[in-house]
Amino acid sequence: MNIATPIKSALAVRDQFPAIAGWHYLDSAATAQKPQAVIDAIANAYGRDYATVHRGVYERSASMTQSFEAARAATAALIGGAESEIVFTRGATEAINLVAQRHPKGGRSRVLLSALEHHSNIVPWQIAGYEIDVVPLTHYGQIDLDAAERMASEDHAIVAFAHVSNVLGSILDAKRAAEIAHGVGAKLLLDGCQAVPRLPVDVGSINCDYYAFSGHKLYGPTGIGALWGRAGLLDAMPPWQGGGAMIDRVTFEKTTYLPAPARFEAGTPHIVGAIGLHAAIDWTQAIGLDALHAHESSLVTECRDALREIDGITLFGPEDSAGIVSFALDGVHPHDIGTILDDESVAVRAGHHCAQPLMERLGVVATARASFAAHSDSSDIEALVRGLDKVKRIFG
Ligand code: PMP
Repeated sequence: MNIATPIKSALAVRDQFPAIAGWHYLDSAATAQKPQAVIDAIANAYGRDYATVHRGVYERSASMTQSFEAARAATAALIGGAESEIVFTRGATEAINLVAQRHPKGGRSRVLLSALEHHSNIVPWQIAGYEIDVVPLTHYGQIDLDAAERMASEDHAIVAFAHVSNVLGSILDAKRAAEIAHGVGAKLLLDGCQAVPRLPVDVGSINCDYYAFSGHKLYGPTGIGALWGRAGLLDAMPPWQGGGAMIDRVTFEKTTYLPAPARFEAGTPHIVGAIGLHAAIDWTQAIGLDALHAHESSLVTECRDALREIDGITLFGPEDSAGIVSFALDGVHPHDIGTILDDESVAVRAGHHCAQPLMERLGVVATARASFAAHSDSSDIEALVRGLDKVKRIFG
């Protein structure tokens, strides 16, 4: 690649990220760096504004409660749901565990997953005692929905797919997945961890039943995420964890519970996390998810074109991947790639990406992965290519 290539897509927000000065951060699919607006919101929430929520009768607590509930409204609006349908969780992992543990199976014992799922959309179903069927992938690394249609049966309580793969970047045809699930009377859960930061999502038009995501991949704090569940479904689920904030009345003989979502939020919540998430949502929406998606798509194309020039490279996943480029270099372990790139101030992820079954299907032990975000630009790709040249010289 000609390193004088002009920047093809830049949202000009790089300066807003204090952590990436002098660094080529290409690991946003693992966790996103935080813009100053989010850092400030967190600092203010712990500083100037801090108090507990829902319980205090004093003014500060009332305004903190308002901010906390405003975060719920913003989270709902981000994905087109209603406030009463948003349960704050620690992240996508906890959201999926909640559904796996509490969704009424209605006599059905199986869950339909795909070969590209993250461990957090596999293990919770195993722990909850589901039997698992695995939909294969197409040649291009998409979940094979024709196969899913053949495999879905009335034994499936749930179909649970990644909306965007964290390894391949493949984007699911989520509406079709919903039709397939509903065609056999199952519910569709979407793992939206990688979709929410980079695609406009509308649970209503998708017609899914549950949607899970994590705040930290959306430029927000760790330890906060959300489960969206269709109202009727959340109401039908028994409580999960018991404690304060989820009860209506407690006696030693019997306890009655609040309706959803409070019923699923036992204990003091991650107040500041929710407020930070709200700031992250506002920040993302100010750019616009369509613009973000277009920006990352252009970087994916540019990156794939540049990497294709390198001898011995294998690119995984579809051409129109959402923000993610996984690759391998003949004769070099991805961990060595990652270590040498680190010396060049380029951060990529190397490993199994919490998707060991997918690695097995790809026939590799690991891949290297570059993933993009709002602050990424062509200079990151140029640094990646220079770093890979060095890898080749060392292993040449
Ligand atoms: N699903 C996908 C597709 C992911 O990329 C991740 C995070 N790598 C998760 C689930 C789990 O998210 P968390 O660890 O934030 O709960």
